[in-house]
Amino acid sequence: MKTFILETPGALRLAETAEPPAPGPGEALIRVHQVGVCGTDYHAFLGEQPFFTYPRVLGQELGVEVLAVGTGSADLEVGARCAVEPYFSCGHCPACRRGTTNCCVNLQVFGVHIDGGLRERAIVPAVRLHAAPALSFAQLALVEPLSIGAHAVARVNLAAGERALVVGAGPIGLAVIQFALLAGADVTVMDISEQRLAFCRQLWPRVTVIDARDEPLAALQDGVGDDLPTAVFDATGNQRSMMASFQYVAHGGRLIFVGLFQGDVTFHDPDFHRRELTLLATRNATGSDRDLSELLEQFDAREILHVTFGSVLTARNAADQRYFYDDLMDVLRAHPDAYADDLERHFLRHLRPFAQGSWSMPRTTRTLLKEGDA
Ligand SMILES: [Zn+2]
Repeated sequence: MKTFILETPGALRLAETAEPPAPGPGEALIRVHQVGVCGTDYHAFLGEQPFFTYPRVLGQELGVEVLAVGTGSADLEVGARCAVEPYFSCGHCPACRRGTTNCCVNLQVFGVHIDGGLRERAIVPAVRLHAAPALSFAQLALVEPLSIGAHAVARVNLAAGERALVVGAGPIGLAVIQFALLAGADVTVMDISEQRLAFCRQLWPRVTVIDARDEPLAALQDGVGDDLPTAVFDATGNQRSMMASFQYVAHGGRLIFVGLFQGDVTFHDPDFHRRELTLLATRNATGSDRDLSELLEQFDAREILHVTFGSVLTARNAADQRYFYDDLMDVLRAHPDAYADDLERHFLRHLRPFAQGSWSMPRTTRTLLKEGDA
């Protein structure tokens, strides 16, 4: 079968590899239909991903079909269309025993620590498959990044009417906004990209937008006075932004770091204490009711996916054709500078490399987007 292997940074190879074995107990054999390319893949390609080893098969945003099921997974049906929860937790460490499987001490992320889904077929734990028959494969591939936003919002138990600020309107920030709105929060978004802010204005007229390049604290106070947001989500992964975000939080409020970077965050301790702030990190998502399951079942997942990410992708398409490519190599070869201020680099491209059982890469992004929006 066909497999994309990232041999070393910058060297992605299409290889013929052995078929996976029949699924063992608790396992399932999947056919990969859609693969999202995310920042993790990109940094791995550039050799900038910490704790990453080569060679590696990338791919953790997946829309898949179940081909065969091993014993002990009777509720999973052959033919089911599924999203993959790529966080393969150990199940026995202290974090897993507490139910925080997203930060398992021995966590192996499919496509990061172990070989992922950028291949025709693969074996995965059946319990990590989440069936959603109403969703297209493209939408299923978006469930994983969406769940990051769902998890961040669930982490702080946002109350209806609560004032929330989301710093950074990239794809993860957009997911946070979407779930904060679903929680009933009064949402403000801040970003340095006029394009992203315009997109938010268009998508969510009731969300307040602030240009972070122009005295953002004053702009925030213009709207709310001293009644600052009690929940501030920083989804930038930018050191300067994350350190600046402390000043936006209300006394007694929470600051949630959704994005991360390689380095140290410092803050003024007296100010931190004076406000009695709570600082939280978020990592991945869980398959629990609060994150993936809720996303797929309790909310109208189809609508969320369509509205948020269909629109994002459509907006991208209109905004800048440069970022649409016909194959993964082109995406990964794009220079990061040209790409840094892009509307949402997380979803540069959705591939259907394994369509109809053949290796058919030439489908255009536009076609895929139409299918994804269907
Ligand atoms: Zn564990």
